[in-house]
Amino acid sequence: MSSNSGIQIPSRLPLLLTHEGVLLPGSTMRISVETARNMHLVKNRLLKGTSLKSTIIGVIPNTRDPEHDTEDLPTLHSIGTAGLAVQVVGSNWPKPHYTLLITGLCRFRVAQLLKEGPFPVAEVEQLDKLEQYTSPEEMSEAAGPDGELGELSQRFYQAAVQLVGMLDMSVPVVAKLRRLLDSLPRETLPDVLASMIHTSNKEKLQVLDAVSLEERFKKTLPLLTRQIEGLKLLQKTRKPRLDDDKRVLAVRKGGVLPGRQFSLDEEGDDEDGDDTAVLERKVKGANMPEPALRVCLKELKRLKKMPQSMPEYALTRNYLDLMVELPWSKSTTDCLDIHAARVLLDSDHYAMEKLKRRVLEYLAVRQLKSTLKGPILCFVGPPGVGKTSVGRSIARTLGREFHRIALGGVCDQSDIRGHRRTYVGSMPGRIINGLKTVGVNNPVFLLDEVDKLGKSLQGDPASALLEVLDPEQNHSFTDHYLNVAFDLSQVLFIATANSTATIPPALLDRMEVLQVQGYTQEEKVEIAHRHLIPHQLEQHGLTPQQLQIPQDTTQDIISKYTREAGVRSLERKIGAICRAVAVKVAEGHNVTKSEATPAESAPQGAEHGEGKQGRRAEEPDGDMAAPPDMPIVMDHIALKDILGPHVFEMEVSERLTLPGVAVGLAWTPLGGEIMFVEASRMEGEGQLTLTGQLGDVMKESAHLAMSWLRSNAKTYQLTNLVGGSDPLEGTDIHLHFPAGAVTKDGPSAGVTMVTVLASLFSGRLVRSDVAMTGEITLRGLVLPVGGIKDKVLAAHRAGVKRVIIPKRNEKDLEEIPANVRKELDFVTASNLDEVLNAAFDGGFPGMSNPLTLPHIVSKL
Ligand code: ADP
Repeated sequence: MSSNSGIQIPSRLPLLLTHEGVLLPGSTMRISVETARNMHLVKNRLLKGTSLKSTIIGVIPNTRDPEHDTEDLPTLHSIGTAGLAVQVVGSNWPKPHYTLLITGLCRFRVAQLLKEGPFPVAEVEQLDKLEQYTSPEEMSEAAGPDGELGELSQRFYQAAVQLVGMLDMSVPVVAKLRRLLDSLPRETLPDVLASMIHTSNKEKLQVLDAVSLEERFKKTLPLLTRQIEGLKLLQKTRKPRLDDDKRVLAVRKGGVLPGRQFSLDEEGDDEDGDDTAVLERKVKGANMPEPALRVCLKELKRLKKMPQSMPEYALTRNYLDLMVELPWSKSTTDCLDIHAARVLLDSDHYAMEKLKRRVLEYLAVRQLKSTLKGPILCFVGPPGVGKTSVGRSIARTLGREFHRIALGGVCDQSDIRGHRRTYVGSMPGRIINGLKTVGVNNPVFLLDEVDKLGKSLQGDPASALLEVLDPEQNHSFTDHYLNVAFDLSQVLFIATANSTATIPPALLDRMEVLQVQGYTQEEKVEIAHRHLIPHQLEQHGLTPQQLQIPQDTTQDIISKYTREAGVRSLERKIGAICRAVAVKVAEGHNVTKSEATPAESAPQGAEHGEGKQGRRAEEPDGDMAAPPDMPIVMDHIALKDILGPHVFEMEVSERLTLPGVAVGLAWTPLGGEIMFVEASRMEGEGQLTLTGQLGDVMKESAHLAMSWLRSNAKTYQLTNLVGGSDPLEGTDIHLHFPAGAVTKDGPSAGVTMVTVLASLFSGRLVRSDVAMTGEITLRGLVLPVGGIKDKVLAAHRAGVKRVIIPKRNEKDLEEIPANVRKELDFVTASNLDEVLNAAFDGGFPGMSNPLTLPHIVSKL
């Protein structure tokens, strides 16, 4: 090739001798510069020179063994590559050296060595033509000449296309190369490809030495074929790793699957195979706001320049994938019709009237104002009372997507706000993830268990939530991973919690708390029959014709197998029954023997309700086959067979057979509970021992109770072990609050402790059907406490008949369902006299004022 057209390289070139491979025209190579000669070259030419020409140097492969490289110049290889130093990086460690990034321009022949030191400079003869730009037309002309060269270059081109087709098109470099193949002049292809494929330095040197184009094609073609064969072998052994996207693309193009060979006639400029182009289209089509789009385009630009093997490539790629998937402007249309919403809420949930009414008001206001600004609803109540389920119904009434974000145990703020992208394995927070999952920007997000948010060194997730929930701020919520603002103002947030006590105050301030109380026995029976049983039947593939559960049985399940405020374990028990029955039905015989083993038998026939047509299970002929369409009716016996012996029995009366025991009512986040407080005394020195996981407030109450009794011992005729009037003299007292694993704190057991101790010191039994709650003062007053409804329901569940509550809690009785109120005696007490009087049969002796009779409110 003559050098009479195109760009000229300088006729004098400084020479860089390198051991590190062979630089071929059209490729870029990193060369480490360590020898004194080369260091001089870099310092004197590259670092001092200012013109473009001064950055062009001649790179000559040094074939001599580096170990034996000496001061004097070795015999130079006669052919080298003129290269443009694109980058020079210097470092002093471990010893002074430079790293050059050099792009090969063209071959040259060393005509004459002009000087040797401090670095060699030679007179050179340019061998390849250097073109600035070759249009495709010129290119085809260039490839045009017939004859051997034309045919050779055509064969070479085809092999190159085949090779590139076998590579992974999702790698930007490969996609680019595929395009380059068609736009590059054919004569440059051997150099470009030889530097890319696996070749030894010796082979590369042969290519460098092949000055004649024909020879160069001949030398490189076998190398190319060798690489193709190698790839074919590799692909046979490796299962193609297919990404759905690529598969779709390949199929759409009618080509073979990616990672396989593309047919030769494929259009080279078809950008479908270029993954980044697809991504770019998606970015542009994602309808994102201006700032986000700008960031995406910038990242995309970086991505295109990155080789796929770079770890950052995957990071950037994942980031962009997320950005295009986020619902920047996709939303559902609200279809709120308050009347329909009421019907839907009613049909989904039995009881909880107050909550449903409040939810409807909330929705109505939001509709009228057509904005979501305002406090966040927070449902607070024991587990299994339908908080989540109401949230889901709200989403349904609005026609919105629903997503639940469980916050229990979250103690890292990046869980909410995401990790910065600099971390390995960084990812967006749960809010952004949730949005990606639902695919619209106006879902209903249920923040479940906000009271169980933790705190740790990684920051406080509650403060991150604050930003999410604050209508003033959340239109530009910035997840650390995204690093651009996302508008959350269309999201409807609802929170749930078991107790407000552990919700961080700032968070609580943003929320409107709606208490969801536990259910009464009757409500549970209704919920079971209206919702739980039909739902469980459906889940287990059963029909009401196959299994019937009479109301009495449901009552039994509720009172003997569950003790909870909600209906979750009731639902599980019903599920267990359905499973047992499903086995029977599947086995095809729905009659069991009465002596059948537990969990397998589901005797049909019952004494109750719908079971009339059934056969009593314990009848001797119980093994007679029933008509196949006869339903299995759950009766007590069947229930016992399936669920085993009763888990809870009415134990109140049994446990109150000794002095020094009384029933207190406690409130826990799981609902109300009854609590047996026990006391005993023994000889000692007036010590008061407390056991049963008590908090500080509870301990103080115990001391209060003790002091009050001591100061009133005479009035109440209390005695110690030896008959003296100070109950503590020569006596140790032990107070115990069973159910030891649960930490109990709060002042509401004060009255119970007084009652227990009064019973202990007087030797009289506390009435076995009384439960009580109330805070006390040192002077014997009874102060109001919280959680009355839950406590009363617990007492009712446990079969208690009389409940003593503080007088000032009388107003709370309104919340209690009428049927429960009807079955209980409520005694409202304003001082301890009244409490004791109501707790003991026939009143407590020595009442200071016999006229202070307890005020019985019930039976209303
Ligand atoms: P929570 O979120 O309060 O812990 P869930 O919403 O998960 O409780 O409720 C547990 C189950 O009880 C669900 O299957 C729900 O449908 C059912 N459930 C609870 N309360 C009611 C109700 N009032 N009416 C109908 N089903 C209910």
